[in-house]
Amino acid sequence: MKIEELKGIGEKTSALFHKVGVFETGDLIGYYPMQYILYEKPVSCAEAKEGETAAVRCLMRGKPAVRKGQRMTIVTATAADVTGQISLIWFNAPYIVSKLGRGGVFVFRGKIGMRGSRKTMEHPEVFTEEEYAGRMERLRPVYHLTKGLSNNTVIRAVNAVLPLEVPGSEYLSSGLLRTLPLIPEEEALRQIHFPADTEELAEARKRLIFDEFFNFILAMRFLREKETDAENAFPMPSHALQDVLLGSLPFELTGSQKHAFGEITEDMTGGRAMHRLLEGDVGSGKTVIAFLAMARCAENGYQSVLMAPTEVLARQHYAKLRDFLRTAGKEEECGLLIGAITEKEKKAVRQKIESGEIRYVVGTQALLQESVRFRDLGLLITDEQHRFGVRQRELLTLSDRIPHRLVMSATPIPRTLGLILYGDLAISVLDEKPAGRLPIKNALVDRSWRPQAYRFIREQVRQGHQAYVILSMIEENEELDAEGAVHYASKLRKEMPDVRIGLLHGRMDSKSKDKVMTAFASGETDILVSTTVVEVGVDVENATVMLIEDAERFGMAQLHQLRGRIGRSNIQSYCILMQGNPGDTAKERLSALASSNDGFEIAEKDFELRGPGELLGVRQSGDPAFRLADPAAHRELLLLASQTAEALLADDPAFARPENHMIRNRISLFLEQRATTVL
Ligand code: ADP
Ligand code: MG
Repeated sequence: MKIEELKGIGEKTSALFHKVGVFETGDLIGYYPMQYILYEKPVSCAEAKEGETAAVRCLMRGKPAVRKGQRMTIVTATAADVTGQISLIWFNAPYIVSKLGRGGVFVFRGKIGMRGSRKTMEHPEVFTEEEYAGRMERLRPVYHLTKGLSNNTVIRAVNAVLPLEVPGSEYLSSGLLRTLPLIPEEEALRQIHFPADTEELAEARKRLIFDEFFNFILAMRFLREKETDAENAFPMPSHALQDVLLGSLPFELTGSQKHAFGEITEDMTGGRAMHRLLEGDVGSGKTVIAFLAMARCAENGYQSVLMAPTEVLARQHYAKLRDFLRTAGKEEECGLLIGAITEKEKKAVRQKIESGEIRYVVGTQALLQESVRFRDLGLLITDEQHRFGVRQRELLTLSDRIPHRLVMSATPIPRTLGLILYGDLAISVLDEKPAGRLPIKNALVDRSWRPQAYRFIREQVRQGHQAYVILSMIEENEELDAEGAVHYASKLRKEMPDVRIGLLHGRMDSKSKDKVMTAFASGETDILVSTTVVEVGVDVENATVMLIEDAERFGMAQLHQLRGRIGRSNIQSYCILMQGNPGDTAKERLSALASSNDGFEIAEKDFELRGPGELLGVRQSGDPAFRLADPAAHRELLLLASQTAEALLADDPAFARPENHMIRNRISLFLEQRATTVL
């Protein structure tokens, strides 16, 4: 059912839902909250601590005062209990007056500030005691919003859709479910949106994370069945060009790069088709290995393709690949296939691929969707493979001769877990950084440090360097005290009128994204304000500072990936982690991050800090293959899913038993959805 067919949702609201990617009512079920607010037990004035969010129960003192300015109406009031008093202030909220007008006891909820020796609250929420008691019973979901779409609207819509979509959704047989320590899917879907308490939320997440792993593993197994142990249809004995390119590199390969490339060439000259995972921390130099393998492929007369998860990254790889060939005097035409180029250009490229005229191809999954026919595809490389692990294999099933496959990933998951998820892949690891890299200097600060951070960034810009400023959200959320990128960029432009500032986020169309990223890469802008879209692979050597606002809102793995955008040359780089809201656990995570630059070490520390039982953590992977699941953090559930899948396949490999039909359908759906996800 279309979202606009839902009762109470008009044209305007449905347009807003479309903007956040919700088109069907079913999409709403998967529109999981990004966070939950627990309504705290009310405290007295004296107990409320500066800097913390608190609910204070107290009595109105007199009437609220209203001052009407030209652009703003300000309401102030004082409330008190036996332990002390607190000053309250609201801007442009005249409705507050009528609510407070009748006097009496209220619960005010907001962040406690200090003015002199007085406690203050700016723009607190106001509840009667009964209202507040009602809220305290449940966790309140907080959804991603866009301007005009309120959290309450989303809550109401989800509430309306749950009874329509959820009943009957369970796909595990009751026999199987009984053997698992999991709640039914229907309950999980209800509870992920409206958990009564943290326990219910943990139960819901546990079930849904299991499902993500279980589906992924079965889908992988399903695809693998079709293509096991293909023989090498593209042998690559010749290596003259490869040797020239190696000789003309501006640097020497690290020991582990040499080793990994050795394994790759061994595969490509051997008896079986290569199927290898190249795993290495951010900045370890995976791209050049990919280019060398592509050249090896070209000189043996075959085509190769490098697929990137984002257009930004595809464009960057394309430019670097051409440079790579040009500096060695081996320039030749390469094809770029991304959404941002014109139909005419795409058509021309596709034709040249079909005729075999172009041997090097770089692109996004546009390649997959628009069914490009290769004349002689010998090598398929996927960068940041975990982003679309399944899809990439689907492409292959189109061809009868299986090309060599190399997948590259910076996700630091331990080898044993990698084996479960990508069991059929051989693994090469890049475990050293290129020589001469200065370790990134990290600082963990709070918002009061912002002026210094800005001064520091200005100084770096003055020296000719560039900076990233990373925000956790595109637009502000009424329920959260955190910055949104769009508004932030315009504030920063006012603050630094002489500095050139770009803005990048996931809701921009691909052409605009491309323009902004190209401008930053070529040095036309000095600061890039961005959400996590820059997370993967972007390589701008001249960028030396990254300021991450509201750093506690990101997972550790994600922060590490983000930070990998700097420190990519021999210039000293700096990462400023700015914690927006105080909290001890967040602080512990962030200081662990500030004290290490090693991805594997950080992943281990993350696991330790959260503990295997921790199911309430922030969203980790940023990986569309998993929405809640994180292979590094949810190891026990990954193992459980793997064991369950193995047992099922041993017992009923074709899902022929009636009780397993639903599982088969779910896997088909999973494959279908992955094939059309827009990244
Ligand atoms: P990642 O593994 O994160 O994809 P990249 O392949 O983007 O890393 O490499 C990061 C940077 O390091 C690039 O600018 C690349 O040219 C450079 N680089 C790669 N290998 C070496 C090396 N052996 N010595 C010096 N610099 C290198
Ligand atoms: Mg990379």
